[in-house]
Amino acid sequence: MRGRKIYEGKWKILYETRDPALLIQRFKDTPMLGAGRPRAKLPRRGAMKNQISAAVFMLLQKNGIPTHFVEVVGERDMLVRRLEMIRLEVVLRNIAAGSLAKRLGMEVGTTLPAPVLEFYYKSDALGDPLVNEYHVRALGLASSEELRVIRETTFRANGVLLPFFAEREILLADFKLEFGRHKGALLMGDELTPDGCRFWDRTTRENLGKDRARRSPAREATAYQEIFRRVCT
Ligand code: UDP
Repeated sequence: MRGRKIYEGKWKILYETRDPALLIQRFKDTPMLGAGRPRAKLPRRGAMKNQISAAVFMLLQKNGIPTHFVEVVGERDMLVRRLEMIRLEVVLRNIAAGSLAKRLGMEVGTTLPAPVLEFYYKSDALGDPLVNEYHVRALGLASSEELRVIRETTFRANGVLLPFFAEREILLADFKLEFGRHKGALLMGDELTPDGCRFWDRTTRENLGKDRARRSPAREATAYQEIFRRVCT
């Protein structure tokens, strides 16, 4: 069933299938990073990424938010719809952290009065710069109608994800989405895991996913397993 490899990124590999409209997305245990940045191996990380993403995509689809997810087909593999990706990272923030806290001088952990939506242009050469909707149009990355759908879908996703994670004692500080075109529709793609979201414990406000300042392999492994436990079991 698994055909030719057509893409390999930091966390995933995409393979063709017999159906040209469908791909297999395989999650990796260790990321592909630039030279000189070794990362400890987290056992079963690929399997956890697959399960967490599948659970979240299914939740979103149940709530009328279209994603590329079709079904889980292996421990680290999911069947997905083939997308023509829009070269944007769409970030939605409920709490100030990371680059936002730094850029605007906000204290990490501040609850934002209203969620903040940001776009980053996916370009390794440029270091994924922050862009606004005018830049997106100027670069020809997406039409204004597509931007409207992306904006609306991202806020709707936040409305579904916040209570889902809150029930699991997780505060969704921020998350990153990617979108792509499929047969005339715009679908959410990529993954939804601790590698692209900030998950904080609701009570201790301790980071449960990745955060560079506090990263240690042991801590990251425990945090990842904790998210997996709260979301998938
Ligand atoms: N993010 C991501 N990929 C990137 C950059 C950011 O998935 O290349 C996610 C990140 O995990 C966080 C959110 O987007 O949940 C906002 O990231 P931020 O701009 O604060 O940057 P960071 O502090 O992660 O460098």
